[in-house]
Parts: sequence; C-alpha cells; structure tokens
Amino acid sequence: MRIIFATGNEGKLREIREIMGDLGLEIVSMKQAGIKADIVEDGKSFKENALIKATTISKLAVGELVMADDSGLVIDALGGEPGIYSARYMGEDTSYDIKNKAILERMNGVEGAKRSARFVCAVAAAVTDVSGNTKEYTTEGTFEGLISERIAGENGFGYDPIFYVPEAGKTSAEITPEEKNSMSHRGKALRAMKDVLVKEVI
Ligand code: IMP
Repeated sequence: MRIIFATGNEGKLREIREIMGDLGLEIVSMKQAGIKADIVEDGKSFKENALIKATTISKLAVGELVMADDSGLVIDALGGEPGIYSARYMGEDTSYDIKNKAILERMNGVEGAKRSARFVCAVAAAVTDVSGNTKEYTTEGTFEGLISERIAGENGFGYDPIFYVPEAGKTSAEITPEEKNSMSHRGKALRAMKDVLVKEVI
C-alpha cells in the first residue's frame, strides 16, 4: 500500500514525508501517481476543502489510499483572513514576499495580543472500493501564534516568515523543520490521521 497525497506543493510534501515516514508507506504526489485533475475547492471550511480534494482523487484511483490537506492562516484582527483563501490571497502567482509585506501593512496599528493568529490544517483520507463506495476520514490541527512585526527567517514556506511562535521566540521560518513539525497545525493533524489510519485502514 502507498499513500497518494493530493498536492503539488513541494514544501508540504516534504513536511508530510517527515511526519508520516515512520508508517513505512511510500508517499507519492498526484503527479508521481500519474493522476491529473482540476479540482474546484469550493468548500466553506478547511475540512470541506480537504475532503473535496481527497474524495475527487480517490474516485480516480480506486483501491488506493488517497490523502489531502487544506490549510491556511487565520488572522483574528483581519476577521479571519486570509483563511481558506490563504493560497489565493492577492492572487495565486503573487510572491509571498509581497503577500507578507501587505499583511504587515494591514496590521499596522494592531498591537500585542491583538495580533493573534493561527495556522489551521484539515487532513482528509479517502479510499474508494471497486463498487464506487468511498470511505472518508478527517482530522484537524491548529498552531497558535502572533503576526510578527517584521519578516524573518528562510525556512518553511508561505506565511512562515510573519508567523511568530511565542514558545520559540521566533517566527516559524526561523525554527528548524523538526521543531516546526512538532508544533505545527499540519504536524498535529497528520499525527492524528496516522492514528486513524493505523486503527481503521492499514
Ligand atoms: P492549500 O494548499 O490550499 O492548503 O493552501 C495552503 C496555503 O496556506 C499555503 O499556500 C500557504 O499560503 C498557507 N499555509 C498553510 N500552511 C502553512 C505553513 O505551515 N506555513 C506557511 N504558510 C502556510
């Protein structure tokens, strides 16, 4: 058995391999599995979007264990933005340097604990049998922090350089990948999914 992970994001795939590696299953991307699909992520929550991705691919890969995640940054002072639109915020092709600068600009004048934010990750797993019945599983994890005053760090991806982790005293782009995995939304949701898979699927 292998896991087909429905993402094209190399940063995510790297984190997933680090966290799920001890299951002893090969983890391949959709591209590596030779699956092409245009998925419309029109869910209203992280969980709905993760399920849309996992079940759509699962129906194209009967008998395989398909997983997907949906994640994003929720900033309280911005009414939850960018939220489920994190990847699409200011346009999919806009660099994170520009997106991160724009968010810091919008947070001007917001101080201290009012800069609270969290990364949220929903993970979905799906297996479709030959009769077309799909079994679905979901887990969720959160990573609490603050929007930093300035961009810092080179590790990670996306909004990591503006996400200040109080326990570490640094942004999530300044901590090591191991530290990030031990605390992150994706780490928590994937470890929870690992338990579900061991109990119910593998
Ligand atoms: P998704 O690929 O649709 O789940 O979109 C996730 C988006 O949320 C990413 O493209 C990033 O913008 C943001 N994001 C999610 N997790 C992280 C993280 O761990 N670090 C930085 N940005 C993240």
